[in-house]
Order: sequence, then C-alpha cells, then structure tokens
Amino acid sequence: MAGLYLHIPFCKQACYYCDFHFSTDSRHRSELLEAMHKEMTLRKGFLSAPLETIYFGGGTPSLLEGDQIASFLALAEKTFGIAPQPEITLEANPDDLTKDKLHAIRAAGVNRLSIGIQSFRDDLLKYLHRAHDAQAARRSLEESREAGFTNISIDLIYAIPGLDLASWETSLKEAASYRPEHLSSYSLTIEERTVFGHHLRAGKLRRVEDEQAAQQFERMQDVLEDLGYEQYEISNFSLPGFHSRHNSSYWLQKPYLGIGPSAHSYDGVRRYVNLANNPRYAEALRSDRIPSEAEVLSAVDQINEYLLTRLRTKWGVDLRVLRKLGDDLPGRCGSRLNRYMEEGLLVISGEEVRLTRRGMLLADRITEELMAG
Ligand code: SF4
Repeated sequence: MAGLYLHIPFCKQACYYCDFHFSTDSRHRSELLEAMHKEMTLRKGFLSAPLETIYFGGGTPSLLEGDQIASFLALAEKTFGIAPQPEITLEANPDDLTKDKLHAIRAAGVNRLSIGIQSFRDDLLKYLHRAHDAQAARRSLEESREAGFTNISIDLIYAIPGLDLASWETSLKEAASYRPEHLSSYSLTIEERTVFGHHLRAGKLRRVEDEQAAQQFERMQDVLEDLGYEQYEISNFSLPGFHSRHNSSYWLQKPYLGIGPSAHSYDGVRRYVNLANNPRYAEALRSDRIPSEAEVLSAVDQINEYLLTRLRTKWGVDLRVLRKLGDDLPGRCGSRLNRYMEEGLLVISGEEVRLTRRGMLLADRITEELMAG
C-alpha cells in the first residue's frame, strides 16, 4: 500500500486559528505547481507500490482548476502507477465549490471530498475568519451530492469560545443530516504563531475550559454514535466502510510520499520534511534539488511514535509489534496499565491494547505516561 500527499500551499485568507503552511500571495502559483511536478518526477523511486490513495491537502486545494488537478493525477499515474479503486481526496472550502468547479473536480478523477465546513453559525465562522458563511456551507454540501460525490467528509471545530453544548449538538445533528460518509472534528487549539495566539497573549481571547471542551467531545461521541457513525480515531468518525484510507495509512505507519512545501514523507525507516517556504522551495526545484531534511528515527522514537499514533485509533497497540521494536510495554508499565483498566480507560484483549471511549478523552495524558525512554 502506498499513499501520495500533495500540499497545495495557497489560501484566499488566513483563518485565525491556522498554523498550517500556506500563503495568501497569489503570485507565482504556476511556478510553484511546476516545482511540485518536478519534485514528483525526482521522487520516482521513493515508493515501491502503486498508489492506493492520493490526497490533495493544504492550504486550499479547491483553489486549483480541474485541469491542474487532472495533470497532477496524470503525472502520479505515469510516475508511480495508480492501483485499481484508489481513494482520491481533495480538501475543499465551501466558497470554492461552485457547480462548475464540482463537476471539474469530479471529471478530473477526485472521488472523495473533504469539505471544511467548521461551523454552521455565521457568528462563529466570522470569529474564526473563515472565507465562507453558513449558507455557503449548506449549499456546498447539497451541490456536492448533486454533482455525484458519494464519499464526502465534513470538518467541524468545537471548543470555540461562544459555542455552548446545546449549539454544538445542533451543529453536529445538522452536519449528520447531510449523511456525510465521514466526519472529522477537532477541538480549537490556540497555536502560538496564529492570530488567535496573538489575541491570547494580548488578553483578548480566553481559552475554553478543559471541562467544557471535554463535555463537547463526549456529546460528539454520543450524538454521532447514535446516528450510526463509528469513532475509529479520536477526531474521526465514519459510516461503516468509509474510514479515510489515506489518513489511516498514516496511523497504521504505512509508507507515504508528500510533495510540496512543508510536506512530510515516510519510507518505513526515515521521515522527511520539505522546506516550508514557497519561493525557496520552487527555487530549489528549478535546480533539480529537493529541499527536504531527513530524520532517522531512533529505536525509542519508533516505539513512541507507534504508541502516539496507534493509541488514538480503534485498532490500538499491537504488543507483538512493540516487541519487534524492542519494547516490553506490559513489563515496563504493568501497574499503570492495570490502573487504567480498573478506571475503565483501557482494555487489553490478547495482544491488543486499546483505549475505551472514555480513555480517548484522556489519550494525550495516557500516551505520555506510557512512552518509552
Ligand atoms: S484553515 Fe485551511 S483555509 Fe484556513 S488558512 Fe488554514 S489551510 Fe487555509
């Protein structure tokens, strides 16, 4: 199994919470896309199997035209090959999804849309500095279906100042009323290098209390499970058979290649991270150089990464894999594991260690306490 991630590093405007790599400068976009084509060609030998998943992330990939998407896919096919029935996802913002754009995206070969709805409340969308309003969000969902998309994911944010529990429940139910195959939902985190980070330092913003965020997380679990969605990762829910194949391959530690500024790659041994600077990335590729740094993971890093990613998922940790990595988790943390089991936070069945629904709420703390080294 192999996956390809394409980082499209442009946005119309900066959302106040976002610390992904993007630029709102619309100049030199075609040079940047050309550089990404070049990087893909130079990375030809990176993957040894045809692509089963391709993911256009960003940034805002829905700013691409249909022919630009099609030409990335044609190059991916030529360079790596694409396996039968691939999952090809494009992240999209509601304001970009006109009827024409939706048809162009579909005709280019995209078969899964991940739509950044974030909220159905205009005041909160404004507060987050999103480029769309609630009406555009609703329209994009209806028209995506009309355009023939049968695999749609909705992104929502909770723990936003001003979002109370009742209103969050209403938003979840409204999202589910479109019957998306998948939902991703993240708690608003205030990152230092964002507008919200600045507001926090200036005393203009107060974080939502942990307890309130926890109540919203638990309400989300209740509402979505009642509506038939399975929580297969802390922040991800799906109808049966519709978990994100691409993101699952990250959590299951399969090799993937990331193309574009700031993109990450993993070949099973090393991680690579590309330079997060659009002009310098393009300049390096013009001279056939991939501006990327490699990090060889130490044995302890590998164990901790495995714990960090797998404990977030319904698949949990496989003790046999940990043993192969040189770790004896039950020997190292036996009394902690017993305590978590008594508290109903964790279950061990055979060789599998999984967090319970309640344990997922405390995943960060539990993982930290189980880490090696
Ligand atoms: S959240 Fe998405 S649309 Fe908003 S700035 Fe970040 S990458 Fe761009």
